[in-house]
Amino acid sequence: MKFSQRLDQLAPYLFVEINKKIAEKKAKGEEVISFGIGDPDLPTPSNVIEKLCQAAHDPANHRYPETEGLPQFRQAVAAWYEKRFGVALDPATEVLPLIGSKEGIGHIAFCLLDAGDIALVPDPAYPVYAVGTTLAGGTPYYLPLRAERDFLPDLAAVPPEVLAKTKLLWLNYPNNPTGAVAGLDFFRQAVEFAGKHDLAICHDGPYSEVTYGGYQAPSFLQVEGAKKVGIEFHSFSKTYNMTGWRVGMAVGNAQMIDALKRFKSNLDSGVPQAIQLAAIEALNGPQDAVAQHNAVYLRRRDLVAEVLSDIGCTVEPPKASLYIWAKVPPNYTSVEFAAELLDQVGVLVIPGTGYGPAGEGYVRLSLTISDAALVRALSKLQSWQDNRNRFKPKH
Ligand SMILES: *Cc1c(COP(=O)(O)O)cnc(C)c1O
Repeated sequence: MKFSQRLDQLAPYLFVEINKKIAEKKAKGEEVISFGIGDPDLPTPSNVIEKLCQAAHDPANHRYPETEGLPQFRQAVAAWYEKRFGVALDPATEVLPLIGSKEGIGHIAFCLLDAGDIALVPDPAYPVYAVGTTLAGGTPYYLPLRAERDFLPDLAAVPPEVLAKTKLLWLNYPNNPTGAVAGLDFFRQAVEFAGKHDLAICHDGPYSEVTYGGYQAPSFLQVEGAKKVGIEFHSFSKTYNMTGWRVGMAVGNAQMIDALKRFKSNLDSGVPQAIQLAAIEALNGPQDAVAQHNAVYLRRRDLVAEVLSDIGCTVEPPKASLYIWAKVPPNYTSVEFAAELLDQVGVLVIPGTGYGPAGEGYVRLSLTISDAALVRALSKLQSWQDNRNRFKPKH
């Protein structure tokens, strides 16, 4: 059987190697504790689950949904954007439900890019921006995110010959994997840049509600003119612990929303209605769970940051997101450090280079690990350090 060349372009997944190591350890009966994937361990709020159960009994929800989604879903999203960000959206033309935001993030590339077109993609980043670009026949041009620029891309550094072919700019704040945040001043620069060079912006914002210490993340759409050039992707996954339910949304520029809807209507049949109804309940129901979850992550954040500092990493506790982006101790590469922790104490952290070459020198730890596992993992990390001290030459 012969497969398409398209599939060959998908980078060999770093995680294949890691998973092999984990399997080996487990086969030997050793425990591996994973700070790997960003998938909330806490349950979905019960009012949302109740709503799904009720909606599942209604035969109207057993039939095909419409791609454009239920009018009530689009209205609930528009009302939430108004209340949360002061952003007005037309539910009829500026809101589209997605089968998880990942689905829309992958598919939007097909709506904007032809062969030879460039998309500006942050490095390090959530892998789907580059994957969607490549599958659609486009070429990613990477914008390094560095600590000295607060992990914001240097838009002015993109060469004119690249810009001439660029049709799309990807942004993501609060950021995965760096945990960095962006203010309205940066979004304003980006909107101006997009207008000047006639390109679209896709801002991916699933962590806007996962924030700490009173920090409130803005929406990219709060900037004047943002809706002329772009859309924002959002998700129920991280805010309401609904990764398994697969529901998100794209909002903003009506032409881009329409293009994505047309594309999707030819491939999928939209989000199951019972899930849309549960998602409406998440937005309209009590929001206490969000603050409770953030309090749990905040406590974990501080525990993890402290132990990482103790073992020689440099850590800036993030204002938002589910991730700690830690600089590895001197004289290690990302992969070496991650491999050593996995081999010696059975703790899995992800090498920063898994998110792009500019991630070298960092590892990512997700805070979505149960408290019990967290306590064990932290004492294992500490024991790694104690062992290292023991073998250090004494002066
Ligand atoms: C988790 C995540 C998503 C995807 O969320 P789904 O809605 O579950 O598909 C999108 N973007 C980033 C940066 C993420 O970390």
